[in-house]
Amino acid sequence: MPDVLPEVLPNVLTVAGSDSGGGAGVQADLKTMLALGVHGMSVITAVTAQNSLGVQGAWELPVEAVRAQYRSVVDDIGVQAVKTGMLASAALVETVAELLAGTDAPVVVDPVGVSKHGDPLLAASALDSVRERLLPVATVATPNLDEVAQLTGVTVETEADLRRAAAAVLEYGPRWALIKGGHLAGDAVDLLTDGTEEHWLRAPRHDNRHTHGTGCTLASAVAAGLGKGLTVPDAVRQAKEYVTGAIAAGFSLGGGIGPVDHGW
Ligand code: PLP
Repeated sequence: MPDVLPEVLPNVLTVAGSDSGGGAGVQADLKTMLALGVHGMSVITAVTAQNSLGVQGAWELPVEAVRAQYRSVVDDIGVQAVKTGMLASAALVETVAELLAGTDAPVVVDPVGVSKHGDPLLAASALDSVRERLLPVATVATPNLDEVAQLTGVTVETEADLRRAAAAVLEYGPRWALIKGGHLAGDAVDLLTDGTEEHWLRAPRHDNRHTHGTGCTLASAVAAGLGKGLTVPDAVRQAKEYVTGAIAAGFSLGGGIGPVDHGW
């Protein structure tokens, strides 16, 4: 027996789209997982041609390819936590929801709708599937304010509205809702609640336009924490701290909006 046993890292899976520019999507997810000390794995749902200026093209993978990637990972390696991101279409949302209904691992759902540049990353026809099939299998759902409005019709203008938004999201069945109020003026305030407990997370606003990949990074950081066995509130607190540092260190790349930094 060696004196020191090799460390076994938790296995954390992202089910999401590829960003060729390396700032968001699967690429941001894997960088976050590496930085937070878990083994990152990926099921790619769609491929985007993307850079700092926006999304120039997007192609979804066949549902069989998504199912096969998931089975390869889960049946052999196993997962301690899962994160979902860009799912593109109703067929992919339903496939992923069906696969995740069969896991005991905690699931973080980032209900990605539209990129910061306004490019659609989810078909409008997939919204019902997100509400009725995907949100019910989520341990934590992490919508931003645009996604809250799209999914529930609730518009958030003040911090007090975050409570109404969370209640509307929880109606669809996730165990926790993390409503990201980053688009409101003032401090970056998020509300995490399971309908009973409330945790307000506040961070000073960084005046940095290079924020590409913020949502992907936060959701992956939550999944990394859950994979390590943290409670949901602790995983979210750790993730908020991580993403705040990543935004503060966001850097210019290409001619548009640069990515958050994972090496800070
Ligand atoms: N591209 C992919 C593949 C994504 O998954 C996401 C967000 O989840 C984005 C782009 C959007 O990133 P952002 O809105 O931070 O620019």
